[in-house]
Amino acid sequence: MESFAAWLKGLRTAGRFRRLPVIDRPAPGRVTEQQGRQLHDFASNDYLALAHDPRLAAAAQAAIERYGTGAGAARLMSGDLPPHRCLEQAAAALVAKERALVFGSGYLANTGIIPALIGRHGVVLTDRLNHASIYDGCRLAGARMLRFRHNDCDHLEALLRQHSGRPALVVVESVYSMDGDFAPLADIVALKKRYGFLLMVDEAHAVGLYGPEGGGRVREMGLSAEVDLVLGTFGKALGSYGAFVAAGPMLIDVLINRARTFIFSTALPPATAAASQAAIEVVRADPSLRSELAGRSQWFKQALSRHGIETSSPSQIVPVIVGRDDAAVAAAQTLCQRGFYVTAVRPPTVPPGTARLRFTITLHHTASRLEEAAAALAEALIP
Ligand SMILES: *Cc1c(COP(=O)(O)O)cnc(C)c1O
Repeated sequence: MESFAAWLKGLRTAGRFRRLPVIDRPAPGRVTEQQGRQLHDFASNDYLALAHDPRLAAAAQAAIERYGTGAGAARLMSGDLPPHRCLEQAAAALVAKERALVFGSGYLANTGIIPALIGRHGVVLTDRLNHASIYDGCRLAGARMLRFRHNDCDHLEALLRQHSGRPALVVVESVYSMDGDFAPLADIVALKKRYGFLLMVDEAHAVGLYGPEGGGRVREMGLSAEVDLVLGTFGKALGSYGAFVAAGPMLIDVLINRARTFIFSTALPPATAAASQAAIEVVRADPSLRSELAGRSQWFKQALSRHGIETSSPSQIVPVIVGRDDAAVAAAQTLCQRGFYVTAVRPPTVPPGTARLRFTITLHHTASRLEEAAAALAEALIP
């Protein structure tokens, strides 16, 4: 216990102590914090404002009436219900793959899929900026984990050459969650043709937002056939909860038989699956959602630029690098006083010295709100 106390004290001194923000949600797109102030939420991944969409709520309510609030068991036991199977068909169609398998969450998907596909004799090549769930999946696999420099295909190729002859899995994100930039998917697919590895792309921040019908970046780039596994989550742009992986039938059968986070975990509540399926139908039918989000993201970056703040993100995730941890926290506090809820992302989530404010743009933000947020940030950054 002694050492826990010392450890926590160390975190506090270093400005890295994490605490839960005490908030409530008085209205979609807003949060209230301790003093009761209403803030505009720039930390949520509810990009398309679907978490409050009546069509999702109606689908969830209908499923609750029919199936109750819980699935009752894992899918391989008696938890497998029509909403799960319908959702898998919709998810596979969305990303243009043959089949899909639903997991409890993106974290469970990555920690189940990677060990199911690669064992102790294999290697996993992972972009340095990949999500923690991908790292944890690599650890559970017991495979040799080789990290390549962010978006650096030359480094990836050098590692592939060095370790040729071993089963290899390459994992990247299509839109990086903390930097908001895109993976060079075409170049990675070109390497796959030469070196023959399994390729998984985590589209947690891209499904619903890019490509035809919101099918993601892999589909947008016409690479659905080349990418072996496309992972998507339902908790971000799709306004619900859970995740899926889409692949060919053989890989899906492998996962059903081997992925421990699928086999040994209770199926998603049917209402959650039904809400996710309704969300897929909404995004497939309405291209204006994603074009509107792209427009607002662009607008925010232009507003920042008018205030002399440059950011290179091409997406709806707009990081503003501050540098020092305490400076990032101070800027987030100033923004909070001005009515904007933004998270300061610090090490170890991001590399040391790159503490940042991470703005996520959603359809809750109007153009004038975005302009106000940019102006507030400019003031907050004045030393
Ligand atoms: C959010 C996220 C996950 C985890 O998904 P959850 O459904 O929230 O568990 C996995 N991968 C990436 C890239 C993410 O951004």
